[in-house]
Amino acid sequence: MPDTATRYLCQRCGNCCRWPGEVAIDDPEIAAMADHLGLPERDFIERYTTLRRNRAGLTLNEHPGGACVLLDGANHCRVNPVKPAQCRDFPNRWRFPGWREVCEAIPVPAGDDT
Ligand code: SF4
Ligand code: SF4
Repeated sequence: MPDTATRYLCQRCGNCCRWPGEVAIDDPEIAAMADHLGLPERDFIERYTTLRRNRAGLTLNEHPGGACVLLDGANHCRVNPVKPAQCRDFPNRWRFPGWREVCEAIPVPAGDDT
């Protein structure tokens, strides 16, 4: 578990969106992202998702280099207002090994990042 004494303020560098790995998404998140992009859910699923390795649900597709299919340019998330919890929760609620080398988030004292 990450320590909770320090919180990190995202600087929107987009590096985590280029990091390879699954982004697990549930049904309400799919509905919200499809709606945000003006697509029927079926189209969103066909265009942007694939089955997770554990077959327990869907993940967002990646480009060959590992970047999320919904990343536009260097750091613009096309679904930012409704991005999945896994994206919102990084790096304060979960982290991947080596995250500090790629994430430009700034540590702030707890309670100072509202
Ligand atoms: S959904 Fe948005 S925030 Fe999440 S990995 Fe893709 S581009 Fe990044
Ligand atoms: S790598 Fe860190 S600072 Fe950069 S967008 Fe992701 S959470 Fe924000």
